Amino acid sequence: MMLEARNITFSYDDGTEALNNVNLKVDKGDIVALLGKNGAGKSTLFLHFNGILRPDNGEIIIDGEKLKYDKKSLIKFRQKVGLVFQNPDDQIFAPSVEEDVAFGPLNLKLPMEEVQKRVHEALERVGMAGFEKKAPHHLSGGQKKRVAIAGILAMKPEIMVFDEPTAGLDPKGASKIINLLKELNEQGITIIISTHDVDLVPQYANRVYVLHEGEIIGDGTARDIFSNK
Ligand code: ADP
Ligand code: ADP
Repeated sequence: MMLEARNITFSYDDGTEALNNVNLKVDKGDIVALLGKNGAGKSTLFLHFNGILRPDNGEIIIDGEKLKYDKKSLIKFRQKVGLVFQNPDDQIFAPSVEEDVAFGPLNLKLPMEEVQKRVHEALERVGMAGFEKKAPHHLSGGQKKRVAIAGILAMKPEIMVFDEPTAGLDPKGASKIINLLKELNEQGITIIISTHDVDLVPQYANRVYVLHEGEIIGDGTARDIFSNK
């Protein structure tokens, strides 16, 4: 088991109970889909997969060890597990595409040559080569999403977590993003994705969890989940 949420319970400061005893497991090579309506708790769970939120109860397990929340452990954890936020505007800050994608690798204090190589490769992989000098705020929604994905890819994570990557995209844009996730998975990256858009799920997910009002109410293969309704 690569990444696991074990008995995670979490309430926000205002008392909202967002997660109740959530268990979810991810194996190397998986594409795991987390289904749930708006407000089910998907984003809250994903913020635990990046260590931004810390559970009230339960733990995050990475490669068999409990996640610790000191700075050093979190930096190491975030190199392995990259979170792509739902709204790229929460993630893109730099004045140009290339500077944005370079941000993570620069933070890792990698040599400039390596940073440039990673930025170039990441932009190629998401189909955004040629956009290096563009200002992110001039890009379309789908393009911004690709740049945000490139920024995470440039960190060379083992696991990528995508919060609602198809939200707000038209069907064509959505299937492009799904194809990109499949490609990344074929290249060895383990994928976790949340969505309320069930139509595409059987095409890509090998394991599905259903989250409802903060609780996992179903899990299994896509076939299990979609045939027993
Ligand atoms: P989803 O991603 O499935 O739409 P969220 O994780 O965003 O669900 O939300 C789960 C629950 O937590 C909802 O009831 C939501 O209103 C609440 N919530 C989310 N963020 C906050 C916050 N910062 N403060 C208080 N409540 C929040
Ligand atoms: P939007 O629909 O929001 O404009 P898209 O996701 O459709 O965004 O595409 C973003 C940009 O990336 C477009 O300029 C498109 O031509 C380009 N693009 C999309 N997919 C690929 C790909 N696989 N290879 C190369 N370029 C691509």
